[in-house]
Amino acid sequence: MDLFEYQGKQFFAEYGMPTSPGQIAFTVEEAVQAAEELGTPVMVKAQVHTGGRGKAGGVKFAANIEDVREHATNILGLDIKGHVVGRVWIEKASDIAEEYYASFTLDRSAKKHLGMLSKEGGVEIETVAEENPEAIAKIWVDPVDGLNEEECKEWVKAAALPDQAFDGAVDILMKLYEAYTSGDADLVEINPLILTPEGNVHVLDAKVTLDGNSIFRHEDYAQYDETQTRDERETAAHAKGLQYVGLEGSVGVIANGAGLAMSTVDVINQVGGKPANFLDIGGGANADVMAGALEVINNDPNVKAIFINIFGGITRGEEVANGILEAMQRVAIESPIVIRLDGTNADEGRAILEPNLSDSLLMEATMLDAAKTAVELAR
Ligand code: GDP
Ligand code: MG
Repeated sequence: MDLFEYQGKQFFAEYGMPTSPGQIAFTVEEAVQAAEELGTPVMVKAQVHTGGRGKAGGVKFAANIEDVREHATNILGLDIKGHVVGRVWIEKASDIAEEYYASFTLDRSAKKHLGMLSKEGGVEIETVAEENPEAIAKIWVDPVDGLNEEECKEWVKAAALPDQAFDGAVDILMKLYEAYTSGDADLVEINPLILTPEGNVHVLDAKVTLDGNSIFRHEDYAQYDETQTRDERETAAHAKGLQYVGLEGSVGVIANGAGLAMSTVDVINQVGGKPANFLDIGGGANADVMAGALEVINNDPNVKAIFINIFGGITRGEEVANGILEAMQRVAIESPIVIRLDGTNADEGRAILEPNLSDSLLMEATMLDAAKTAVELAR
């Protein structure tokens, strides 16, 4: 779950990190009212699930109420990398002496949490990593041991933050680690973390991704779940209980089992096609599940051919074949379907499908041939 900046700041504030006061606004009038209550100058900040808002004109300084009105008018409705701005965060403006970068995420290969800290903040960390990698101080934290204050101090020293920022940075980084672990986050990022002319260290931007599977531990995360921007296809599929991930291509994929579905996506790419989705219908390929899956794929306007890839295990081939035929009667499918059916009772299943084959329902003996045919049909 990706949080908007203001939600990320609210999340950080719960762990005691210093953020600026602000209010969320959905209209220009609300933005003006928020600025009046906060007192100018304020920042008018687009709230979208993507970074680089500043460069795209989505973060503006407003010295007075007229500026707030002008910026809110321009930013609400603005398209930032395909995300249309529906709300702006009006925040009390801060004075900035220096901008830093701080984050925690999981380093899967190291099996540890990775903290990154840099005094080159405010710009994209990828750029710093490319142009000036030694400006990023890294720390690997064993999740069992956690982050202790001594290690944290060494880390801040390694990043060569000025003495003035030292204590404030250590304090925020300890809290950031706590928020990251106790909050079940996949990513917490502050860019920029600022030093003010008065010598305070302060959170100015927040990027937080929470683990959606942890909602059962955090009742309040329902509020974040509600504001997710979801692929419409994914919403429809998840409502049917299907494991679906939307992709950009033209070959619809239905497979039983996550591993087989991933292999199917791979093999379509391998033969020069582009999958429209990942869809795992699980072990039982009965008519209900198959009809639901076909419906979701059929509603995707990019789909030009459908590849059903089934390997019968506990599910027997004839059940799958009957399920497919029944599902096809329930859903008016617009694209040709290519089936590969293997595994338990595959012969029985194929015998059931055989008399129903046509230009719009094809069967291939192998996964590779089926992928080739589906990709060919999608062209
Ligand atoms: P991003 O572009 O999506 O990363 O949005 P940020 O929240 O990081 O804002 C972009 C830049 O705007 C920051 O790096 C700052 O330089 C500037 N900025 C943001 N808030 C303030 C503020 O309160 N005061 C000042 N002076 N600049 C700000
Ligand atoms: Mg930023």
